[in-house]
Amino acid sequence: MIPGARLVILGRQGAGKGTQCVRLSRHYVVPHISTGDMLRAAVRERTELGLMAKEIMDAGGLVGDDIMIGLVDERLRRPDAGSRGYILDGFPRTVAQAEALDVVAAERPLHTVIDLVVPRETVLARISARRVCRDCGTNYTATGGERQPWICEVCGGDVLQRDDDTPDAVNRRLDLYEEQTSPLIEFYGRTGRLTAIDGVGHPDDVFHRLTTAIDDVR
Ligand SMILES: [Zn+2]
Repeated sequence: MIPGARLVILGRQGAGKGTQCVRLSRHYVVPHISTGDMLRAAVRERTELGLMAKEIMDAGGLVGDDIMIGLVDERLRRPDAGSRGYILDGFPRTVAQAEALDVVAAERPLHTVIDLVVPRETVLARISARRVCRDCGTNYTATGGERQPWICEVCGGDVLQRDDDTPDAVNRRLDLYEEQTSPLIEFYGRTGRLTAIDGVGHPDDVFHRLTTAIDDVR
């Protein structure tokens, strides 16, 4: 019987965080709690906080820390997270949120915070190579040798690059992420809770590194 785990996962876009979160969630049998999913679920279930968040989002605003922390608190109190643990993805984003998380998770504190490290040039290359079928959404990776126009193997639609996957757009997102996340990495490092994992290589190898490190600190 594999024991649960209580984790926060950090990593820049394109680092493979989504894939590894799914695998970790299955391996440790804990919910993968991403901020977006959590918000949508709260709105759908019409919880008090969900309705407050919906009102703000409908008005074009950003849901503030108080509501986000309340939502995380609610989610972590559910039986699955309470008994087995959780993987938080997309929260906390700021040191203030991290401090609030320490308070609401006081009875089920983090085992560790994973920083999935992939060099900026690597993720830039990965994201810049992404192509998608405009009609059916099938994903492709450009190698440079494709015939133009590039036609989807599944449906015959046009295979294109998304507007927000261009190097300029990706660089802007990566800058923003670094600006936001470096204080958080410093905070968890200073409090001895940061585990940096090399995210370069085959997903199976990265997964093995992750579970080895997690099992070590738990
Ligand atoms: Zn297609």
